[in-house]
Order: sequence, then structure tokens, then C-alpha cells
Amino acid sequence: MMTTQRIVAAEAARGFMPPDEGLALREAGVAATDAVPGLPLLEIGSYCGKSAIYLGDAAERAGVVVFAIDHHRGSEENQPGWEWHEPDLVDPAVGRIDTLPWFRRTIHAAGLEAAVVAVVGDSPTVARFWSTPLALVFIDGGHGDDPAHGDYERWSPHVAINGLLAIHDVFPDPADGGRPPYEIYLRALDSGSFVEVSATGSLRVLRRVDTGRPHDPGTRRVASA
Ligand code: SAH
Ligand code: MG
Repeated sequence: MMTTQRIVAAEAARGFMPPDEGLALREAGVAATDAVPGLPLLEIGSYCGKSAIYLGDAAERAGVVVFAIDHHRGSEENQPGWEWHEPDLVDPAVGRIDTLPWFRRTIHAAGLEAAVVAVVGDSPTVARFWSTPLALVFIDGGHGDDPAHGDYERWSPHVAINGLLAIHDVFPDPADGGRPPYEIYLRALDSGSFVEVSATGSLRVLRRVDTGRPHDPGTRRVASA
């Protein structure tokens, strides 16, 4: 169970993770670290640290860590003029969004500095040099076509067999939100390497099964007219 203090910290944190989906993400972290003990978790897209509390709680319980990747400059949809822009996040000295100070406050307030390791950088760049197998990968970075498909292609092969792949903002109905997270969820299922284990709001959790061969992310779907 998450402590009440930590649930309060998560709900107080800025960001885009509803409480029920956050708790489902934490449950996925618990299940993943039970299934493949000793391996770390990894998040792509931390923003101000809200979802990292849920994964950090699971990591702490299991004696591992969660790597929280974000360049902290915001996604396209967080930039001035876009739907999800929060003007007070702009660093006036730089003229760009900087969510890292908020992230650090959030993780400190939750008492999770030992279990949540910030990796400040561009997801594809970090992925180029990554080789550690992971108990769980949570994809919640850039939600455009190239960022989402790129994160799926680069990070899903690092999920250990019996580990979990979690994807946020999966909306089967286009009226509810953008396509790319839904498309990568379909790609993961189509690859044959993943089976669905749970759905909570827009969070989907998939388990990697042992197919006897490496995971092939598969070819990218082209949106139909
Ligand atoms: N999980 C967060 C929300 C993430 S919002 C929560 O719980 O609130 C998406 C985040 O992805 C933004 O902070 C943005 O900076 C980050 N992001 C987008 N593209 C990225 C990239 N190429 N590399 C690293 N981070 C990226
Ligand atoms: Mg999200």
C-alpha cells in the first residue's frame, strides 16, 4: 500500500496523471518488480514528477530504482500557444520551459529521492546508449507521431521477458485524444511480444511474453484516411 502521505504528495503534484491511473501504474510497478526481481523501472516523460511518485513507490518497495527520463523542456503540446502550456513553467533566464525544479520538489516532498533517478536528456539520445533490461517501461513522453513511435521502437525491446510495458493516453476513440499512443499500443499487441494485462482510464499495461526470439517492434502503421 502507498502511505497516505505519499498519496497526498502525488495528488498535490502538478501534472497529468489521474489518481486511479496513478494507482494502477503503481500496481504495474509492483507486479513487474515481483515478476522480474532486481531490474529497474524506467519512465519516459516525467514533467513535474507526478507519475514518478507512483513508480518510485513501487521501486522503493522492491529495492530498485526508477529512471525518470525527461529533457524538461516540455513536449510540443506544452509550448506557448499550445493546449497544454503552463506559462509559469517558463524559465525567464532561458525563455524556455523548465520542469526540472518542479520535478525535484515533487520527488523530495514524496520522500523518494533515493528511489527516483532523474535522467535529464532527450529520450532517443538516452536510448542510443541504453543496454540494461527493465522490469517496466512507462511511455508518456512526446505524444506526436515521431516521438511516440520512436519511444515505442527504442524502448520496448528493453522490457525483460515477463516485464511490463505501460502506455499512457491511449484513446481508442479519436474524439478523446491523439492517435499516436493508441497506435503504439496496437503495434505492441501486433508484434506478438506483448499481451494486455490491464486498462485503467487511458493507461494500458502489457506484459512481455517469451516468444523464443527477440522482440521485433514491427513496422509503423500509416494512419488510414
Ligand atoms: N508523466 C507526466 C506527464 C508527462 S508530459 C505526469 O505524470 O504528469 C510529457 C513529458 O515528456 C514532458 O515533460 C516533456 O518534456 C517530455 N518529453 C517530450 N519529448 C521528450 C524527449 N524527446 N525526450 C525527453 N523527454 C521528452
Ligand atoms: Mg500522459
